[in-house]
Amino acid sequence: MKLHNINEDVVISEVTNIFNSLEESGNPDNICTCAQCRIDTACYVLNRIKPHYIVSNRGVIRIEQESIEEQQKKVDIITIIHEGIKQINKNRRVFSHGIYTNSLTDTNRPVFNIPSIVGRLLNGINFTPITEDIKIELRCNGDIVTMIDNNWQNPYQFSSYCEGMFTFWPSPIQAESTNVIRDFEFSVKIKTFGFEELNHFFKIPVTSEIRSISTFSRDRTFKLPDLYLFQSGDAVQ
Ligand SMILES: [Zn+2]
Repeated sequence: MKLHNINEDVVISEVTNIFNSLEESGNPDNICTCAQCRIDTACYVLNRIKPHYIVSNRGVIRIEQESIEEQQKKVDIITIIHEGIKQINKNRRVFSHGIYTNSLTDTNRPVFNIPSIVGRLLNGINFTPITEDIKIELRCNGDIVTMIDNNWQNPYQFSSYCEGMFTFWPSPIQAESTNVIRDFEFSVKIKTFGFEELNHFFKIPVTSEIRSISTFSRDRTFKLPDLYLFQSGDAVQ
């Protein structure tokens, strides 16, 4: 049994539609439509609407009927998406936003497609999301992990509009053949002044596939438990 927030599906699919139609219309306002800005926008919206949880036994859930209430909710979500696009575009992250490129996409070599990794960082004292200007690193065997392309950052910098959410998407790793299962051991690390160092270790089992996956999808997301950051002894008054 699993809890599933169906608003995540609604928001991600609406954000994708709106950004795609922006691109199709020639993007007159020159809004950045890169993967990171799309995720930041989805984050912005999800932090401003109530989650809608359902219990699911299977991975895929379809909403068969749209009630009037659902339609109204969608209108509200779209309004917040447009507000989010403006905010995120105004406060663009400092990194090279680009068109999605992935050098491995067109090769037909077997690879381990590492899922995107999503988590949330909370203040350990009052459980509020961390909005401070701090950085979190994703490491594998001590090394900083390479991201799938330059739209993804490692270290990742928290920002006030993402309310503690962070995402990484590691680059695919070459495999000898398909259908091999391997455990990848990762850790996320925060070392910043005034807070106790945080290290969280986790394992992701991945089965190698015939080619690399270059489209972001929620089905290929690895969710971390909420992480807590504590002020260090010296910083507490
Ligand atoms: Zn961007």
